[in-house]
Amino acid sequence: LRGPGGARAMQFGPDSLTRIYAVTSGKGGVGKSTLTANLAAALAARGLAVGVVDADVYGFSIPGILGLTSNGTAQKPTRVDDMILPPVGFGVKVISIGMFVDDNAAVAWRGPMLHRTIAQFLTDVYFGDLDVLLLDLPPGTGDVAISIGQLLPHAEVIVVTTPQPAAADVAERSGVVARQTGQNIVGVIENMAGLPQPDGTVLELFGSGGGDEVSRRLSAGQDARVPLLASIPLSVALRAGGDVGAPIVLTDPLDPAAAAILRIADTL
Ligand code: ADP
Repeated sequence: LRGPGGARAMQFGPDSLTRIYAVTSGKGGVGKSTLTANLAAALAARGLAVGVVDADVYGFSIPGILGLTSNGTAQKPTRVDDMILPPVGFGVKVISIGMFVDDNAAVAWRGPMLHRTIAQFLTDVYFGDLDVLLLDLPPGTGDVAISIGQLLPHAEVIVVTTPQPAAADVAERSGVVARQTGQNIVGVIENMAGLPQPDGTVLELFGSGGGDEVSRRLSAGQDARVPLLASIPLSVALRAGGDVGAPIVLTDPLDPAAAAILRIADTL
């Protein structure tokens, strides 16, 4: 890990064999962290070495979804000399800003501090050889997204949106910013699509079409289409699994939302 002059080099540079996916969204609350954590658990269950960098400073929730919190406090990493060893939940190595702040404290850091923290995650946290690294970005097009773009321009980007047409605008913008730093957008995930009703009908609580719309807009003028990877239904089990720290891709793989996430894992 040491580079010239003793300075530690960044892991996951352009020569690394690790596949890197940055999961982004236009706005918060669309299920970005839930999907990132479940995708990570699904990939780890297939025997891959998987890490997650939770860079969602304003709403760090990955530790909770992967069972690494107790009473709302995230498990702390272990330190060995100047190396930080990430906690492991369901086979996934997780590092989160939430592990470095006091219990549930709000994080109001400015850009340079955020940039240093993310850079430190990528240098000082010992992940070992990973097959896949997933990054959970804060919503929007702010400092962290730009830092990730600069630090990991070879990362591939997944854009999460809800089915609402209005959400498509902001989701598209987060993809466009990623592209400006040279990142390739691998696809769009539509989350919180129809809720199946007991009578067999489907309640489209958040409308429909947002995922297709973002895919269409991000594909415009590109050589390769940006596909809609999946449309994930609303699921009580998915929400509840996140609340108790038990990813449903493992505990309830036949739930339609879990099945849809598992299908995405097959394509990554
Ligand atoms: P974000 O990371 O985009 O802010 P979260 O992953 O924290 O969003 O999800 C916000 C809330 O919505 C959480 O309570 C989560 O459990 C819930 N949620 C996410 N996806 C679904 C879904 N498909 N069905 C039901 N609840 C969901």
